[in-house]
Amino acid sequence: MTDNTTPIATPEHTVDGFVREFLRELNFGQGTDLTRASVNDKYLAMARTVRHYLMVRWLATLRRQYQLQAKSVAYLSAEFLLGRQLDNALLAADLDEVVEEGLASLGIDLAELREAEVEPGLGNGGLGRLAACFIDSLATMNVPCIGYGIRYEYGIFRQTFVDGWQVEKPDNWLALGSPWEFPHPESAVTVDFGGHTEQYTDESGTTRSRWVPGWSVLGVPYNYMVPGFENGRVNTLRLWSARATRAFDLEIFNAGDYAQAVRAQTFAENISKVLYPEDSTPQGKELRLQQQYFFVACSLRDFLDQVLPHDFDLRNLPDRIVFQLNDTHPVIAIPELMRILVDERGWEWSEAWAITQKCFAYTCHTLLPEALEVWSVELLGKLLPRHLEIIYRINEDFMAELREAYPDDELRVRRMSIIAEYPERAVRMAYLATVAGSKVNGVAALHSQLLKDKVLHDFSDHYPDKFTNVTNGVTPRRFVRLANPGLSELITSAIGDGWVTDLDKLQELEPLADDADFRAAFRQVKRANKLRLVDVLAERDGITVDPDTMLDVMVKRLHEYKRQTLKLLHVVTLYDQVTSGAVKIEDVTPRTFAFGAKAAPGYRMAKQTIGLINAVGRVVNNDPALQGRLTVAFPANYNVTLAEKLIPAADLSEQISLAGKEASGTGNMKFALNGALTIGTDDGANVEIRELVGDDNFFLFGLLEPEVAEIVDRGYHPTSYYEENRSLRHALDLIASGAFSGGDRATFEPIVSNLLSEDRFLVLADYQAYIDAQERVDEAYADTEAWTRSAVLNVARSGFFSSDRSMRDYIDRIWHTHPVPPER
Ligand SMILES: *Cc1c(COP(=O)(O)O)cnc(C)c1O
Repeated sequence: MTDNTTPIATPEHTVDGFVREFLRELNFGQGTDLTRASVNDKYLAMARTVRHYLMVRWLATLRRQYQLQAKSVAYLSAEFLLGRQLDNALLAADLDEVVEEGLASLGIDLAELREAEVEPGLGNGGLGRLAACFIDSLATMNVPCIGYGIRYEYGIFRQTFVDGWQVEKPDNWLALGSPWEFPHPESAVTVDFGGHTEQYTDESGTTRSRWVPGWSVLGVPYNYMVPGFENGRVNTLRLWSARATRAFDLEIFNAGDYAQAVRAQTFAENISKVLYPEDSTPQGKELRLQQQYFFVACSLRDFLDQVLPHDFDLRNLPDRIVFQLNDTHPVIAIPELMRILVDERGWEWSEAWAITQKCFAYTCHTLLPEALEVWSVELLGKLLPRHLEIIYRINEDFMAELREAYPDDELRVRRMSIIAEYPERAVRMAYLATVAGSKVNGVAALHSQLLKDKVLHDFSDHYPDKFTNVTNGVTPRRFVRLANPGLSELITSAIGDGWVTDLDKLQELEPLADDADFRAAFRQVKRANKLRLVDVLAERDGITVDPDTMLDVMVKRLHEYKRQTLKLLHVVTLYDQVTSGAVKIEDVTPRTFAFGAKAAPGYRMAKQTIGLINAVGRVVNNDPALQGRLTVAFPANYNVTLAEKLIPAADLSEQISLAGKEASGTGNMKFALNGALTIGTDDGANVEIRELVGDDNFFLFGLLEPEVAEIVDRGYHPTSYYEENRSLRHALDLIASGAFSGGDRATFEPIVSNLLSEDRFLVLADYQAYIDAQERVDEAYADTEAWTRSAVLNVARSGFFSSDRSMRDYIDRIWHTHPVPPER
């Protein structure tokens, strides 16, 4: 990089300055003018204009980073669920008013242009959204960070419903142009795959291994700005896109096989074609392993060759970088760094290992044993033969260390092997990350404890100092300031605007929970948010919602462990009570049950559940006996953009996973910060939310984790709950009878029989406790003032769940990096 410090011109931060720049972009960038421009033209021109305002800061950040060579975080994540970019960029640059006014002066409605943005859905759910929140916080806190990931051509599928069943449509988010990215094909990196290894003797007489790859692809970097909130810093997110190498193309093309040349190109480009729509369970697909190695190899190459100065001594690498592994997806980076140091730089193994161990840290995101990623030795050997050798060598040394530590416990030594032997020989990526990483963290207090006690118990015993906790968080910029402008204004009018970057300040709201005027204003904000949601759902989905009902929301990926069926059993039970005459409809609290959830396309039970939610909704919403007092609203395609509308409107947050299964959750935090009360189990970060907001302001129910473990050990029998609980039996019988499927008993039989035979996530065991807790919710909701008081206290006491705090914890416990304030 040249040290070109000549200032470039930032457009004037005025309405006129913006208008001039916008029109210039429309004319010269889009090649059109105001009279002809489509909404998309105007959106693209506006987005590029907004970019210009951040550009000086971005270049200055890069320049300063190059000069100072401060320690950085490289956040390696296969997913970044960014959400829309425009509003966040406007907020960071403090441009919202200027842009709104400027556009209005041209007769353009900013709100209309906003809707033209397609959110980049480059993630499945919580894990990808977490990565997006973290890079936002690091930029806002002035901490040097590069996010590294994959620029999927198709992100998470667009969900549609056909007769209530999920039908997936491709998410062609790039179709109309992508104004937030900067492609750099000239900086493409080559990534090798396949082939074999061979032994040779180097000059010093040492036997070494070398990789002779079989094929390669190019990784083209696309840079995205990650602006801090009004602080002058803009970090970088670098996403990789796969291209065919020219050599590869030309060879085949010259051999006269045009069709094959095109096939080869397709083959290479497939690597970054689609995001795997799996959540919580790994899909053992060759292409997925290719994706993982692809982005990690590009990122290491980029950091070592492009970001670091050319004469950098890699012995100092741990002073300059920490690679944070977001789950096991990027763990192949560990043998890749070893390969670079040993094979390419000619280092001794032990030297390379000492440095590598200091450069990585691993975040575990699960408690489900089936979600711990393994790669078969056969596949790894085929795709990455040298990496497999390196993993074997790491394991050999590790096994020797264990045999020395536990000479009489060969069983334990084998249990801890990075290589599993059954059901097939495979590499356990979480074990590799734990052995190689300097730290291993869980994502909520309970989760980290269970990691130590259960999932990785042998390892926490062996390396007690490696294990730590960092409770997840969410960015207050996107999920409060932008998503809930009404609440933001109310908070700012009460305590000033410092809370946006110091969320602990929300504590100052606490006394206002007892102030009737404040509560009235708070209720008014909630109601305005409901009215906004009513419009969104009417426009987007044709769904009618009554803003005068309690809004009870369950939005998250569809998974059996999250227990959407438990929520549904509550709805069916209320329906059954009213239609059977057991309860008068006038005595039922009017509620809207809002669901939002995508199911992995191959996950049959999850897709069945979606069908059942819609089927129950159809019947409940159309039964005159309910007089419109109970409705189910299930907008399709839950994503960040919809979350930003739903969560600020919610009264009740459903966080009802089986205790011991949800690692943390972050949806739960977003709801609490927006003044919804939680009904939840003692699971994940719910535990910490309840501790902070207080038992009186949280509806706890259900088995505790140790009770779950005990029931499962004893042998769980769901039928006994069915037989002993009348209302549960009625609800299940109603579903089985075909009442929601036009009399067809077969349609939802798999769900009912699954609950009655296996019920892996103890839905039936928690049913009655859940119904009872919902009755407590109804009682509490009837006292409007007390409910509002609780809602205000939820906001006031949830500042801990800022991702800024998560970042401070990572910095103190794992990264040991420092903020670098921008040059003044
Ligand atoms: C926050 C968020 C999630 C995570 O929700 P959980 O309830 O923690 O599983 C998933 N998807 C989107 C779009 C989100 O914004």
